[in-house]
Amino acid sequence: MHKVIIECASTDVKLENFVFYLPRLSTFIIFGATTKKTTMRKTITLACAGACLLFSAFACIGNGKKVGNTAKEEKTDISTVSVPQFDADSAYLYISQQVDFGTRVPNTPGHVACGNYLAQKLETFGAKVTSQYADLIAYDGTLLKARNIIGSYKPESKKRIALFAHWDTRPWADNDNDKANHHTPILGANDGASGVGALLEIARQINLQQPTLGIDIILLDAEDYGTPQFYEGRHLEESWCLGAQYWAKNPHVQGYNARFGILLDMVGGKNSVFAKEAYSEQFAPDVNKKVWEAAKKLGYSNLFIDSEIGGITDDHLFINRLARIKTIDIIGSNPQDGNFVSTWHTVNDTMEYIDRSTLKAVGQTVLEIIYNEK
Ligand SMILES: [Zn+2]
Repeated sequence: MHKVIIECASTDVKLENFVFYLPRLSTFIIFGATTKKTTMRKTITLACAGACLLFSAFACIGNGKKVGNTAKEEKTDISTVSVPQFDADSAYLYISQQVDFGTRVPNTPGHVACGNYLAQKLETFGAKVTSQYADLIAYDGTLLKARNIIGSYKPESKKRIALFAHWDTRPWADNDNDKANHHTPILGANDGASGVGALLEIARQINLQQPTLGIDIILLDAEDYGTPQFYEGRHLEESWCLGAQYWAKNPHVQGYNARFGILLDMVGGKNSVFAKEAYSEQFAPDVNKKVWEAAKKLGYSNLFIDSEIGGITDDHLFINRLARIKTIDIIGSNPQDGNFVSTWHTVNDTMEYIDRSTLKAVGQTVLEIIYNEK
């Protein structure tokens, strides 16, 4: 990803939001201090619905929510479907296995090997796997041998949810504090591998217990080959997210559509939080709302914060624009100023800074969403 755009489209952002200007990045970041409070959706349990048939609605409410129940007990009461438990250790392992291939820059052996590993993993987890090979042109004319890898569950179903992450890594640590590292490729433990690792764990869970809807796990390539900061020519938005642009124009299934999409990017960072991103709010505010409410219900409001950040050039932008599938970006930022975490596009994007508790919050929230969709 990952320019942050000078934009804050959401009407939810109020005047008390702070605007940060980072001269080195030439970007603005808008970080919401306060935004609209989300209201927790009340869910009626199946048991409660049954009781409603026999007793009055008033009795039902009294029955479903016992006086004196703690919030935790209430959470158990309102679960209407059995949602699997996301195993953060498992996701962590899948991240480390990707990092063990070394950097995954298109046109390198590590990239080819990791692509094979990902396709094989999805097959092991029972998905119908499609590999989309494409020659994509980078900002400087370099031809990239790219591969989007799609794992589909219930491919015959018309009701679908698309889950995205990018699996390539950036060829340059061009945001590193040490200029000597600017041409060094990054390991991308967080920027790349974390979203993919979380989706592999989700695939493992789907294989054990299928949700009602069909799910597509779409691992996109060539996201992070966008114009480096040190390049003196033109910087175009379209130099980013090449795999996503290709998939959006050439979906793996003709006429592909999904009810909505969720992109996971940098979802494993230590001390990361998740704020609502402006393009997600612009294109898919209902999906954002649903996800943040689910996170709140699960007790993750400390990570899924009630704030907004500016628009980020990431895969979801092109999926919204070109494929017209309303898609949000769950993307980690640092809680201090809403900027990316400090390891972003540096040589420090390593396993050392991956935190299982961040992965758990995101993974469990996504499972909550996909298993509750009817
Ligand atoms: Zn990146």
